Amino acid sequence: MKQIQTIYTNKEELRETLFEWKKELEKDNHKAIAHIFQRYDAMPESYPVYQEITGLFREILPDVAFAVFSGAGVIADQKITENSFTVTLTVFEDKNSDAEIRLLSMEDPETTKEILRKEIFTKPNLCGIEVISALTWEKMFSLMDVLDELPESISIFGGVAVSDDGCPSYVASSDDHSMIDAFLITTYCGTDLHIMTSRVNGWKHIGFPIKVTHSVEDVIYTLNDEPAYNIYKRYLKIPNDRNFFYNALEFPFEITEPNGDTYIRHAKSSTENGAIVMSSFVPEGSTVRFSYGDPEAIRQDVRAQVKATADFRPEVLIMCNCLGRKLFWGEDASIDISPFFTIAPMSGACFLGEILRYQGKTYLNNLSLVVVSMREGEITNHPECGYTDTDSGVLSLASRLASFINTMTGELQDANEQLTILLKQATTDALTGVYNRGEITRKIDECFLSSKCGKTWSLIMMDIDDFKQINDVYSHAEGDNVLKTATYVIQSTIERLHPAASLGRWGGEEFMILLPDINVQEASSFAEVLRIAVQEMQFKESRRISMSFGVTEYIPNEKIYDTLMRVDKALYMVKNSGKNAVKAL
Ligand code: GH3
Ligand code: MG
Ligand code: MG
Repeated sequence: MKQIQTIYTNKEELRETLFEWKKELEKDNHKAIAHIFQRYDAMPESYPVYQEITGLFREILPDVAFAVFSGAGVIADQKITENSFTVTLTVFEDKNSDAEIRLLSMEDPETTKEILRKEIFTKPNLCGIEVISALTWEKMFSLMDVLDELPESISIFGGVAVSDDGCPSYVASSDDHSMIDAFLITTYCGTDLHIMTSRVNGWKHIGFPIKVTHSVEDVIYTLNDEPAYNIYKRYLKIPNDRNFFYNALEFPFEITEPNGDTYIRHAKSSTENGAIVMSSFVPEGSTVRFSYGDPEAIRQDVRAQVKATADFRPEVLIMCNCLGRKLFWGEDASIDISPFFTIAPMSGACFLGEILRYQGKTYLNNLSLVVVSMREGEITNHPECGYTDTDSGVLSLASRLASFINTMTGELQDANEQLTILLKQATTDALTGVYNRGEITRKIDECFLSSKCGKTWSLIMMDIDDFKQINDVYSHAEGDNVLKTATYVIQSTIERLHPAASLGRWGGEEFMILLPDINVQEASSFAEVLRIAVQEMQFKESRRISMSFGVTEYIPNEKIYDTLMRVDKALYMVKNSGKNAVKAL
């Protein structure tokens, strides 16, 4: 098979070229299809040119089906160019291979799915499907689901037609005028047609994972419960203005879905309320990490794919490149694709997202370069392709800095986890899991020294009645069990009724509860609730326990020692008057 291209300059030249193509096709009786690239921002001014090109095609090459789509940057003359219109003819030299182009609307998804299943999925010798989408994200993902019903051996690739706020994305075909909510689907069939797809990436993650706490479709509202934009401000100092896209482009997100799928998405814009509009869908619950385009890593990735592509011995290459990649490289936009030119003629364009099937599932990628290799006939029928490996072996400053930051971040994360464990050990009681005496004392001091607990706050001091007997009669282990169970019941009751309160083990079987913003009456009622809850617990052999409670309220300007003495005295009074009661002082 082969590929021929022409860049549109004027009607007469195109007419001549199309007549040449016609002669060539008729001479060998070859079948062909055409792709007409149109710059996304060329419409509506260039509508007459569009009509001219498609008119000439219908007139001169009526048997050649064509696909028209809006892109940004077309691959012609071995590089990415800014031409407005470029026509690529793909010629099948093997009589048993062919391609068909359909333009389908997703206005009625169920009917479209039926058409796909009936007409496209039943094609004999189907090898690959190219999709160029001008659909909303949701519809495109539902289309991908249908395509994934095809056997895993069938390659699926393509791109998302380019649009911006002023220019809608655009697809058309020789059979139909463009439709709203539409996509182009090209089916490649053949008994000896071989298709291989691969992906060049090269963006590496940096820093630590951040959780997507709220997102809807392609808008991320919060990351770690903060407005999503904040992380661009904090770590990259990127202002929330109209240059956001260009500034953020060099640091797209590496997204990892809860099921482990990982891909790159870039931010398109930020909103006033700090939400970020991404280049595509980002599911809530995923994690994101910044990533950066390391020129050396990209080149390494390109080199690996160039080698694999050369080994396939393709006759034709189709490149689906990301617009973000083109912007990243700027003047050097062709760096990514030029090494492939030594292998086979290539065509393609820059898209808003690249479609590629991997292990039976079709994904939408960003900042990738999808390389589609096609060949008619066996590998052995084709000569080896010459390509040059240009590994400099030198790591770029960017990649060394990123490695430094990643190592440092990893070490800090480990140290932070250790610190969290140590802090927990230092502030909690090992047996019951509630605060230890040091921590509950620190919290009481805090209330005393600051206004943290409000003007009014109270303490409940409590002690298990006749606990010694439990140890003596049933064993120390059973005593431990009673302590743990009683603490659990008290803590659960606190969480339910007074979540702001803190529970600490004061010593032995004695506990202290600090109740911010609670007066002595309220604290007494709560102590009564606890007393009943404890009394209702049942232990081995239907045994029950009880507890005594002292309650007091902090009196402004008194010493903390006096508050503590009063609550202790209240508890002492209960112990001396029959236990299992609440006393407030
Ligand atoms: P009262 O009703 O007057 O409070 O009587 P009591 O038996 O509960 O009081 P006492 O202070 O005489 O006994 C407390 C006992 O609690 C003494 C100690 O052996 C036991 N104890 C303290 N800490 C633990 C512990 O962690 N586990 C167990 N099993 N027993 C403990
Ligand atoms: Mg006791
Ligand atoms: Mg005691």
